[in-house]
Amino acid sequence: MSVDETSLLMGPEGARAPVAGPGRECPGCGAPLTERQKVCSGKCRAKLSRQRKADELRSLLLNARRALDAAIAAVSNPTPRQDRRV
Ligand SMILES: [Zn+2]
Repeated sequence: MSVDETSLLMGPEGARAPVAGPGRECPGCGAPLTERQKVCSGKCRAKLSRQRKADELRSLLLNARRALDAAIAAVSNPTPRQDRRV
């Protein structure tokens, strides 16, 4: 079996995600940016901040769900060891 080096470098999302090169691109829409710009427009900035909030929310929910899963697991199979400090 031979390993395809490009697939290693690019990864599964390589085709979609723009590679950070000398010319920067708007993370919102992929439009070329000048050096001082972070996004091409206020529209994209709003979009990105929405996206970031959604990401934060998603990770919060993920953590909450993990905690819930752990709590449910703890209730359904209680550990024999008791490390309760009084
Ligand atoms: Zn943009």
